[in-house]
Amino acid sequence: MKRIAHVYINGAFVAPHGTEIFTLINPVTNQKTGEVVLGDETDARAAIAAAKQAFKTFSATTREERIAYLQALKQAVSKREKELVDVMVAEYGGTLQFCRMSVQYTISNFDAMINTLQQFGFERTMGQSVVRLEPVGVAGIITPWNASNGFICSKLATAIAAGCTVVIKPSELSAAQTELITECFHEAGLPKGVINIVNGLGSVVGAEITRHPDIAKISFTGSTLVGKTIARAAVDTMKRVTLELGGKSPNIILADADLQQAIPMAVSGAYMNNGQACIAPTRLLVPENKLEEVNALAKAAVQEVIVGDPADERTNVGPMVSQKQYERVQQYISTGVEEGATLLAGGTGKPEGLEAGNFVKATIFTNVRNDMRIAQEEIFGPVLSIIPYKTEEEAIAIANDTTYGLAAYISSGSEERARQVAARIDAGRICINGFSHDPQAPFGGFKQSGIGREYGVYGLEAYLEPKAILG
Ligand code: NAD
Repeated sequence: MKRIAHVYINGAFVAPHGTEIFTLINPVTNQKTGEVVLGDETDARAAIAAAKQAFKTFSATTREERIAYLQALKQAVSKREKELVDVMVAEYGGTLQFCRMSVQYTISNFDAMINTLQQFGFERTMGQSVVRLEPVGVAGIITPWNASNGFICSKLATAIAAGCTVVIKPSELSAAQTELITECFHEAGLPKGVINIVNGLGSVVGAEITRHPDIAKISFTGSTLVGKTIARAAVDTMKRVTLELGGKSPNIILADADLQQAIPMAVSGAYMNNGQACIAPTRLLVPENKLEEVNALAKAAVQEVIVGDPADERTNVGPMVSQKQYERVQQYISTGVEEGATLLAGGTGKPEGLEAGNFVKATIFTNVRNDMRIAQEEIFGPVLSIIPYKTEEEAIAIANDTTYGLAAYISSGSEERARQVAARIDAGRICINGFSHDPQAPFGGFKQSGIGREYGVYGLEAYLEPKAILG
C-alpha cells in the first residue's frame, strides 16, 4: 500500500506539518490503494516563504539561463514518460490511449515555451517610452485531477520562462501523479525554492495560497464554482488571476458536412478522457432535416465505443475518477430522461461486468433542447447531447446560448464557410473539421469559462508586469 508523507519545499522532500490523511482509491475497483498525508496552512506558508526568497535571484536570471532550466525540466520529465503514463492510468482511470497522448503534450509544453521565450521581447519601445516586462512575483498554481501533470507542467514552464517562482497545489486526487512529477522536478536541479509543491485540500492549502499577500498571481485550472471563489478571495490582495474553468462546448455540424466522418468523430470527441475534459464537445448541433441520419450514425458509432479497463489498449472510456463523480453523472442522466430528451444509447447504471468500478455507460441523448439542464450544465462524464437546429443562424444562436465559452468545433465541406461561422462563435478556441492542438496559440475561455489565456506569448505575458519608463 502506497503512503505519501512529504511535501516539497525549498528543494527538499519534507514531512508535512499537516496530519490529515486522505485515502487513495482505485476507480476501477473502488479498493484503497494508499494514503497521503495532506499539507496544511503552515506548509503552504513555508512553501510561499521559500518561493519568495528564491524569487530575489531567480527573477534576475537571463533568458539563456531560463531556457537551460526548461531544457533540464524537459529532460527529467521525458526520462520518466512511461511511468507518467502508467500512474495516470492507475490513479484516476484515464485510458492508455488518452494518457499516452496527454504525457506527450505534457513534455511538449517545455519545448513550446522555449520557443516562445527565444523570440519574446522583454523590453519594447512604445511611444516615447521604454516598456520592460518584469516577472510578477511568486505564482500560486492550483490544478485539477483530470490531466494533473499536464496542467502543472504547462503552468510551471510559463512561470519559469517569466522568471517567477512557484507554489503548486495539485488536486488531492492526484497524489501519486504528483509524487512522480515532483521527483522529475527535483532531478532537474533548479535552484532551491523555485519550485515548491504542497499536497492538500483546496479549502486549506488552496485557500491559503489564495489569501497570502506574498503570492502575486494565481494560475488556476478547475471548476467555474471554485474559480469564482478564488477570484473573490484573490481581490483582497489584488492578485493577478488566470482562470481556466469549465465548458459546455458546441460541435456544430453544418449542412454541407460529411456526416459519415463528422458524427463518429463527434461521439469519440465527447468521450475524450472518459468525458472528463473541459474542452469536450458535449453539445452536438445538427441540421434538423438530417437528425434521423445523425441518430443512426451516432448509434452505430457508440456501439464501437469500448468502456472498461483503462489499462487495456482498446478501451475508449474508463471509469469516473471517484464514486462522487459517478453519482453526479448518474444524476444528470436521470435528469435528461426527466426533461424529456430521447435516450439514444446508454442510460443509468453500470455496464455489465463493470459493477465494481465507477463506470458509466457511454450515453447519448437526442432531441435535446438547449434550455435543458443536460445542455447547459457541465456533466463531466461520457454523456453527449444531440440538439437539432433549423437554420445556420439558429445554430450560431444555440452555440452561443451558454454561460460557458471555452471551446467550439465546426464541421463543414467548405473551410471558408466554417471560418465565417467561427467568427461568430463566443469561444476561446475553435477547431475546424476535427480536433487539433497548438501549444503556441492562446488557450482560455470567453464568459464563465475563465479569465486570461495560457500558452505562447499570451500565456507568458500573464506572468509579467509591464513597467513603462518615461523620459
Ligand atoms: P475543482 O474546481 O473542484 O478543483 C480544482 C482545484 O482547486 C483542486 O486542486 C482543488 O483542491 C482546488 N480547490 C478547491 N477548492 C478550493 C478553494 N476554495 N480555494 C483554492 N483551491 C481550491 O475541479 P476538479 O473537480 O478538480 O476538476 C474538474 C473541473 O476542472 C471541471 O469543471 C473542468 O471543466 C475544469 N477544467 C478546466 C480546464 C480548462 O483548461 N479550462 C481544464 C481541465 C479541467
